[in-house]
Amino acid sequence: PQPLGFVGLGQMGLPIAKRLLAAGHALVAFDLRDELRPVLEAAGAEWARHAREVAERCDTVFVSLPTPKAVEAVVLGPDGLVEGDALKVYVDLSTTGPEAARQVAAALAERGVTAMDAPVSGGVASAERGGLALMVSGPREVFERLRPVLGSFAANLFHVGEQPGMGHLMKLINNLLSTTALAASFEALSVGAKAGLDPRTMLEVLSVSSGTNHAIDYKIPLFLMQDKPIGFALELSMKDVRLAVEAGERLCGPMRVGRVTQQIWQEAMDAGGPQQDYLQVVRLFEAWADVNWAHGAEAARADVAREPAA
Ligand code: NAD
Repeated sequence: PQPLGFVGLGQMGLPIAKRLLAAGHALVAFDLRDELRPVLEAAGAEWARHAREVAERCDTVFVSLPTPKAVEAVVLGPDGLVEGDALKVYVDLSTTGPEAARQVAAALAERGVTAMDAPVSGGVASAERGGLALMVSGPREVFERLRPVLGSFAANLFHVGEQPGMGHLMKLINNLLSTTALAASFEALSVGAKAGLDPRTMLEVLSVSSGTNHAIDYKIPLFLMQDKPIGFALELSMKDVRLAVEAGERLCGPMRVGRVTQQIWQEAMDAGGPQQDYLQVVRLFEAWADVNWAHGAEAARADVAREPAA
């Protein structure tokens, strides 16, 4: 069988590519960052000079890229995937929103290439253990054909529609909810901490009460309070919120809740820079409330934190 292609070996792409290799697939990889070459070669992949070479050697190519612009450059730019004549199926694991997905899919369709949306949820830790959730759209028969390959890095596979953009819209809906819940949790916990409630006690109570969510169960106790980065840059989270608000406003008018989250995320970008881990948004809430509860805390009790659903 032909090797699989992979472009974009960052926080998410690298562990996904390693899972594909571990499942026995041959892989041809490319990333702008040359320093990744020895890492990929040590893991058993071959390195390509550009995206076009990947699409000349592989009929199925995955991308895991930061922004809609990067996806456009990799697919349609000079030495892009679209120039490789082996390419038949293009699978976009990035979070790039429905608009970019539709444009790229239309350009690829002219060359007889099928574009599949396959954005992922779950983060770096889930990627490493093959536990991602995948929201796929595109022709169902292609989804079914890809299922075994996707199953090597994702535990929950969903086919959410036939049209390009539907998978990406599903992913934006997820991230709008997850970022909003994170913001609301930071605010609520700051209030309790300011009043003297112990943060770990609050997490324990909330995790078995109606206020719980993925931030309470997982992100805050297992990463933030242990001073461990979760591996997602604030600027990428900001991009998700922006794309979600844009898509929502095109469809439904003003996104009242989403816009507040977007504004807070922008303030955090201005204060701490785009590259900081996105859980560091908590620093704003701590500053506003003049209380420190999230950093240098003792490891949260293991029974507070459950595994994420996805
Ligand atoms: P990242 O910035 O760590 O990785 C992106 C990689 O793409 C980098 O290695 C970069 O060098 C490469 N790249 C950029 N432009 C390129 C180009 N023109 N040609 C070749 N390579 C190029 O980002 P990430 O955290 O791995 O996220 C990737 C995508 O997955 C994003 O869209 C993000 O929103 C989404 N996502 C991330 C997470 C997470 O927890 N990190 C979770 C779910 C979804």
